[in-house]
Amino acid sequence: MADICSKCGLPKDICVCSTISKEQQKIKVHRELRKWRRPVTVIEGIEDKNIDLEKLCQQMKALCACGGTTKSNQIILQGDHRDKTKQLLVKLGFPKRNIEIS
Ligand SMILES: [Zn+2]
Repeated sequence: MADICSKCGLPKDICVCSTISKEQQKIKVHRELRKWRRPVTVIEGIEDKNIDLEKLCQQMKALCACGGTTKSNQIILQGDHRDKTKQLLVKLGFPKRNIEIS
């Protein structure tokens, strides 16, 4: 028997709950200046339980060839990687319009 989604009761392979939640999430990507005016890219607002923040952070670090960490619901990358992180989020299925870059 297929796994049943606890949210909608449909088999998981046809369930769209994770798609819907991606549609609903507003992700903010912004640049902050830390110590010694070093820029960091902060990604926040990812609340999808299907997304492993730790794993996503690894992907972003590999993509941007930079260091980074997760902190509560944020991913913090060293350096200014706003464009690249947005591209990756879009690739993962987050709608462009829901990603706010500042
Ligand atoms: Zn579902």
